[in-house]
Amino acid sequence: MAKYKLEYIWLDGYEPVANLRGKTQVKDFDTFPSLAELPMWGFDGSSTRQAEGKSSDCLLKPVACYPDPTKTNGVLVMCEVMMPDGTPHPTNARATILDDPDAWFGFEQEYFLYQDGVPLGFPAGGGFPPPQGEYYTGVGYKNVGDIAREIVDTHLDLCLEAGINHEGINAEVAKGQWEFQIFGKGSKTAADQVWMARYLLLRLCEKYGVDVNWHCKPLGKDVDWNGSGMHSNFSTKYLREVGGKEYFEALMAAFDKYKNEHIAVYGPDNHLRLTGLHETQSIDKFNYGVANRGASIRVPHSFVNNDYKGYLEDRRPNSQGDPYKIASRILQTIATVPTK
Ligand code: ADP
Ligand code: MN
Ligand code: MN
Ligand code: MN
Repeated sequence: MAKYKLEYIWLDGYEPVANLRGKTQVKDFDTFPSLAELPMWGFDGSSTRQAEGKSSDCLLKPVACYPDPTKTNGVLVMCEVMMPDGTPHPTNARATILDDPDAWFGFEQEYFLYQDGVPLGFPAGGGFPPPQGEYYTGVGYKNVGDIAREIVDTHLDLCLEAGINHEGINAEVAKGQWEFQIFGKGSKTAADQVWMARYLLLRLCEKYGVDVNWHCKPLGKDVDWNGSGMHSNFSTKYLREVGGKEYFEALMAAFDKYKNEHIAVYGPDNHLRLTGLHETQSIDKFNYGVANRGASIRVPHSFVNNDYKGYLEDRRPNSQGDPYKIASRILQTIATVPTK
């Protein structure tokens, strides 16, 4: 028997963006526990905007677990929040995702590292560093500073050790801005892993005195500095294996029809980012285009060349979006389009 440290992690009830919360319980196991062996737990929902004080118990239901690479016998336990009667809590967006083991998602999470209220590498007393140009995929102190590289490389290692399916990382267009990409098969897999990767990044940054700023336009819309997105790449078995131009056009008509419902869950303040500039479409318009980075949905060349089969990239979700809500909405819209 060994003492395992189980870090139960969940999303709180703050709006418009939920915070990650976590607390530890210690339990004895012979070997690394499986998901089925992890017990339900609870917390005080009145402290997380998930319950009234007089009836404050919420339940934590483990839904995914990963080895915690920073601890001996540590387990990172992603949880759904449930009501005392066992039904999903209203804040539990994961429970709204259609079950589909053959739905695949790839999320490209952009974010800024912040220190003392400004992006890492910006002058402390105010003002701006040299304009954007050399920062994207850049190297060297003048482009990335002295600690960002250590943070993003350590984060990548932590995620890989935890079994998170990172596909890559890169320095982004603005100074202090970075990206990681996560791909997963199964309608909830990539979304679970994005939340766990966000958790690991936030926790890692604590010891550097650095915060992660997930806002989609932290420097505002009036300056020539990029915002942050979370491009959401998706495919279903039907899209990958059958597809076809007719189905694709019906699917895009459905995305157009539900554009407001999509924008509603694609992250707050997105009107600051989806302006039609900086490789974005305006927030009130829907369009798609082959290899078009100014479109709402980018259709890869490979998709068209392969008889309209493969994956599509929804470029509208922003960096503060909840991947659970995004995956849920995309699959709901897909489900409205008949397949043959
Ligand atoms: P870019 O920055 O040019 O948009 P990236 O390489 O950053 O491209 O992201 C492409 C994303 O597409 C990756 O996250 C990848 O996992 C995802 N992807 C690739 N194939 C599929 C697929 N069949 N279904 C869903 N997502 C996919
Ligand atoms: Mn990318
Ligand atoms: Mn990017
Ligand atoms: Mn992209």
